[in-house]
Amino acid sequence: MQWFWLVCLRVLSFGVLKFRVFVRGVVLKSCVRGKGFSSAHFVVLSGKCERLHGHNYAVECEIEGKQDAEGVVFDFIELKKQLNKTTEQLDHKILLPANSSDIKTTKTKTGKQQSVEARVNEKFYSFPLEDVFFLPAKTVTAEELAKFIHSKTRMPSGKTLLVRVFETKTSWAEYP
Ligand SMILES: [Zn+2]
Repeated sequence: MQWFWLVCLRVLSFGVLKFRVFVRGVVLKSCVRGKGFSSAHFVVLSGKCERLHGHNYAVECEIEGKQDAEGVVFDFIELKKQLNKTTEQLDHKILLPANSSDIKTTKTKTGKQQSVEARVNEKFYSFPLEDVFFLPAKTVTAEELAKFIHSKTRMPSGKTLLVRVFETKTSWAEYP
């Protein structure tokens, strides 16, 4: 059998070169795209608060590892099930950061209605609590969403997972 070495170079956002080396025939890569989700968010960048807006997020994963006895790196159906279970929690929700120092959130109850106020300085929004998903992060970015989805996806040992979250067709973040 003839062996090929494939070396991939990636330039990360902070300028560090990262190498990925595969021996074709030993380590394989599988890619899966989940259902995606549509959500609203806003971020505070350099002290400036964006307006509330939404994205139709797309999610895809790459898994690297050896083929199992059945010839697959990881079961596509199982992976899609895991991805969709996670993204269903985010779909049609207002995404707020659970650990932000810029966006202060307060829960209130008026009669049967529970709501969340999200405040940045003098500006605030009020949402029904049931429409909100608190992302365990300081900010709601594609990077943090990729990290969150990665943390919720279970992989057997020996398989590595990369999660990519697209805000648009031309803007995305991946983790790790
Ligand atoms: Zn956005």
